[in-house]
Amino acid sequence: MGNGRYTATMDLFPQEDRDHNKLYQFYENLKNNKLTTTKCKECGTVKWPPRSVCPECTSEDLEWVELGPTGKVEIFTVEEVGVPEGFERPLIHALVELDGPSPLTIFSRLVDVTPDQLKEGMRVVLKVMEIPRERVTFAFKPV
Ligand SMILES: [Zn+2]
Repeated sequence: MGNGRYTATMDLFPQEDRDHNKLYQFYENLKNNKLTTTKCKECGTVKWPPRSVCPECTSEDLEWVELGPTGKVEIFTVEEVGVPEGFERPLIHALVELDGPSPLTIFSRLVDVTPDQLKEGMRVVLKVMEIPRERVTFAFKPV
């Protein structure tokens, strides 16, 4: 834990420094069991992952909107080798098509499921997990 690889695998953004991270709010929301991203107040664009500037119109006037928390698995991959130390094996990654008013498809880990239980189209729900140094990350688990 705590090596560069772990950080690169699990963190969407560096989250050590509040003053240098406009996306700090993402993790605050996650700690409250809410998966969120940014929506542009100017043009309405919703993108994943969250942005500090709208990629469509370059506005910095963005608001946080909640995603999911449920969705369905579009495709998945099972990673048996090269799993970083400290992670359960195998690592399962999936594209999850989120429900809700801002439907997006995002890449995420799946947990609490074994490879033989995996099915395309299976229903999943957000799971927020604590990781070292009082951080949080998220995955999806079967409903
Ligand atoms: Zn915009």
